Amino acid sequence: MTQSAQYKAPVELSRRTFVGGMAALATVPAAPFAFAQGAGPFAQQPLGYAFNALEPHIDTKTMETHFLRHHGAFIGNLNNFAKQHGALASTPVQKLLAEWQQLPESIRTGAKNNLGGYANHTMFWQIMAPGGAKEPDNALKAAIDRDLGGLDKMKTDFNAAGLRVFGSGWVFVTVARDGKLAITTKPNQDSPLMDGQMALFGNDVWEHAYYLKYQNRRAEYLANWWNVANWSVIGKRFAAAQAGSLAI
Ligand code: MN
Repeated sequence: MTQSAQYKAPVELSRRTFVGGMAALATVPAAPFAFAQGAGPFAQQPLGYAFNALEPHIDTKTMETHFLRHHGAFIGNLNNFAKQHGALASTPVQKLLAEWQQLPESIRTGAKNNLGGYANHTMFWQIMAPGGAKEPDNALKAAIDRDLGGLDKMKTDFNAAGLRVFGSGWVFVTVARDGKLAITTKPNQDSPLMDGQMALFGNDVWEHAYYLKYQNRRAEYLANWWNVANWSVIGKRFAAAQAGSLAI
């Protein structure tokens, strides 16, 4: 079993977006994948949509670089770590992240960083897919109303939290084991999975996620980012979290 097979996306993109993604991938040179990822158990799932699909809110060049170079590098690094520590290939990523402090000391920090980057970005590409619902479904909306004060307050608080991240990191809406939602931030590539939480969705506030288009205007990026959130996918992730089947 490989990580690519084992960590199949927990929710399926629609056939329509998938077909669009295939068209986009036809324009992607093969070399960056091979160069960035190397051989091993970790592999990058297809983006599922074109690099320009999130324009004008997220620009094509940012998506291309972010997906191929940044995310691809995490996968290449993990394949190298897996050569030193075979358990990386056979242990679920969510379990590795939850128990990262038990990793061998020689690879601990590096593996933790790259596992987090792998999990965070795998989630990120899914929940930004074009198309889909523009608002949460009723079940998710009820949970947002209950735990986060409603959709508008959630967006305001999420954006404020993302703006407060000092340096590089992420802002998430997490789901606890009891189904409760919360907004949290993480530095670097740390993941809510390290705390036994599930990531319902999150936004990448590393400068590489927005600097080409927004430069230092992170607040503008955070505000515009909601235009590309796919509430159909997020709703499926919420249902999977409640069913105990949301992996990363
Ligand atoms: Mn990133």
